[in-house]
Amino acid sequence: MTVRLRAHHLLCMLTFIGEGYTPAFVSNFKEIAREIRGGRTLAEIVQGPDDLCFPLLHEAVCHCHHPNVLLRDARAAADLSDLLRSPIGPGKELLLTEDVLQTLRRSFADGTIRSACLDCQWKPLCDMVAENNFHGTLILPLTPTSNETVDSSSHS
Ligand code: SF4
Repeated sequence: MTVRLRAHHLLCMLTFIGEGYTPAFVSNFKEIAREIRGGRTLAEIVQGPDDLCFPLLHEAVCHCHHPNVLLRDARAAADLSDLLRSPIGPGKELLLTEDVLQTLRRSFADGTIRSACLDCQWKPLCDMVAENNFHGTLILPLTPTSNETVDSSSHS
């Protein structure tokens, strides 16, 4: 699957725990997060509103074209280009493997790729999620619960 993402949403997806601007935004984000969690999603970087923005585009107040948000994209693109040693910008395709996502999480947690987050209303929440080792985020791979753990010795 290919998901169209603006650059700063490569950060926001890391801390998404099911909260957002509107119920429609959250529902759409959850669907995309489920895809990304599989580790085989191709992100196509776009300029301006992307697949996550889509449910907000018809809202009376839509910030997706706001210059501050475009600046956030530019900052994220610069940080991520440095981190991944490859230009991140419109037209770039990036396979979101679990290795890549882990690299992004590590750099998010240590602050290396957070310049886009300056002045963002969600920053306190995202800081807390990162400090909590991204627990509860929707793109973390599913891990078996104790009930789901298979005791291989019982099948021998
Ligand atoms: S602080 Fe804002 S820009 Fe940064 S990851 Fe969170 S929601 Fe995205």
